[in-house]
Amino acid sequence: MPHGHCYFWEKDILIPIVIGDLLTFLSYMTIPILLWKFVKNREDLRFGVVFKAFAAFIFFCGIGHLIDVINIWEPYYRVSAIAKMCTGLVSLGTVLMLFKLYPKALKLPSVSRLDNINDELKRKNKELVELNEMYDDTMKAVRLGYWHLDVESNELYWSDVVYDIHEMERGCNVDVASALNFYHPDHREVISELVTNAIQNSEPFDVQLKIITASQNELWVRAIGKAELKDGKPVKLKGLFQDIDDLKRKEEQLTQNESALKEAEDLAQLGNWRWSFDRQERYWSDGRFKILGYEPGEIEPSLQVALDSVHPEDRERVEGTIKQAIEKDEDYELSYRIINQSNEVRIVKDKGVFVNLPHTKGQYYAGIVMDITDESLKEQKLQESLKALERSNRELQDFAYVASHDLQEPLRVITSYLQLIEMSYGHLLDDEGKLFIESIIKASARMKTLINDLLVLSRLETKQRDAVPVDLNKVINVVKEDLSLKIIDSNAEIKHPELPVVYGDEGRMRRLFQNFIGNSIKFRRPDVDPKIEIEWSDVGEKYQFKIKDNGIGIKEEYFERIFTIFQRLHTREEYEGTGIGLAICKKIVGKHDSTIRVESEYGKGSSFIFELNKSKG
Ligand code: ADP
Repeated sequence: MPHGHCYFWEKDILIPIVIGDLLTFLSYMTIPILLWKFVKNREDLRFGVVFKAFAAFIFFCGIGHLIDVINIWEPYYRVSAIAKMCTGLVSLGTVLMLFKLYPKALKLPSVSRLDNINDELKRKNKELVELNEMYDDTMKAVRLGYWHLDVESNELYWSDVVYDIHEMERGCNVDVASALNFYHPDHREVISELVTNAIQNSEPFDVQLKIITASQNELWVRAIGKAELKDGKPVKLKGLFQDIDDLKRKEEQLTQNESALKEAEDLAQLGNWRWSFDRQERYWSDGRFKILGYEPGEIEPSLQVALDSVHPEDRERVEGTIKQAIEKDEDYELSYRIINQSNEVRIVKDKGVFVNLPHTKGQYYAGIVMDITDESLKEQKLQESLKALERSNRELQDFAYVASHDLQEPLRVITSYLQLIEMSYGHLLDDEGKLFIESIIKASARMKTLINDLLVLSRLETKQRDAVPVDLNKVINVVKEDLSLKIIDSNAEIKHPELPVVYGDEGRMRRLFQNFIGNSIKFRRPDVDPKIEIEWSDVGEKYQFKIKDNGIGIKEEYFERIFTIFQRLHTREEYEGTGIGLAICKKIVGKHDSTIRVESEYGKGSSFIFELNKSKG
């Protein structure tokens, strides 16, 4: 019996039931289709099977509603039973699946957690961008770029830095041939072979070569390349490219410096060494080996080898000094003899400096060893000649002293007898005879002065005098008295301020000022009255004096010569004298560790400048 009977075929019951069931059927048919499509289009969807099972369950529910409508008029209850059974089974399957998936589904992130993940992702992304920028900056800073070449298409890629190194506009087109052309003509063949070899035999390369940039600058670069293989075949060549010009030039400079150092070591017969306490570092330069007569690197450098080469007579002293220096972390300097590999005795100077580096453990000694054999021999010879010279000088001085001293007596006898002859027999002589006697007396007087001056000079050498305070005002007064006749004769004017007290010998000070003032009067201009000024100033440890006159002056070429004994610029007829005066002055001032300087304008006057001691020291 059709199901309509149950509704008494009442239209107001049937119509809503039929319409309701049909609408439900249509909806239940649409939902599975949409679900099915959704699952198909969303590949990332998890638990797709459940969606499909749910779609099947809705489908069978829909079929159930359709059969319910049919059953109102036609009683297909068996079909209805089958449909219901299918619905039941499918729904049971769906439930089981849901049970199984439930814990997993629970773990699925909620929308808010997804938002968090999204934020995290954004942050990470930002970090990545920053990191990328940093990476770019670093690459630029170290002038390191990268490149790759597609083997098949021959397309070449350069990063920005690679363009910068080539001084090319970033991003402009470059092909392999023009890239290789940037290399220096001397290096072009090398790089071409390396690139070909990398492509053909997957042989990587890492070379330092020169390029000539677009602006014609020569640069050292490092080029690294490596093939990328696919199925055993190279598909890509990729690598790095770095500007190493600075580094290379420094390296070249270093090599040059090293060879200059080697040359200098060779020339100076010098070697240097380093020796660290932990014995990690023992370095000898080539020169150090050579001094001992070894070829560079021939033996393992060590302190023991160095000590073994020391001459047996010097060994104890050398070992003692070096060991003591090491114990106290001190520097040392020694000269000693060594016996080199050719059994030659050489003299060396060895200087070691303790180097303490504050931030490292590695304290060490560094030093130089210098072969000073030739210098030592020269020095030895020089010292010997100096001694011989001193000896002969002393002998000469002794001779001059003895000679001048012993000559005084016979000269005195000659002069006395001449005076006696003149007095007793003068009346017997004719005019010519008197003239002869007069000439002999004059010559004897000159000889007396000469002998006196010589005696003064040699006494300066032989006799040491204690330095005592000498008031120069008193000295000048005595000098003026001694020279009073000459001063009056010449109408000389002597001006000076209050003079200081100096340390020296009074007699010598007198002679010094007397010689200068005497000369100033003697070498006056014929028609000009002599004006002599004495000035002085304090120059630290000494007083400086200047004795200035308005005399005949001295030509510059004679400035040195006038201080040499017996050197005179005039004949005796022009100006009398012995030529010893300034030599005596030079000696006296020399005793005060000073020299005499002359300033003069020829024809106008001269100044003599010198220093005297302020104190005893
Ligand atoms: P001497 O006075 O006995 O000739 P000195 O040794 O005193 O010897 O001087 C050497 C020379 O230096 C003198 O002959 C003279 O030519 C020159 N000389 C020295 N003092 C003066 C001076 N004040 N003016 C010009 N010439 C001078």
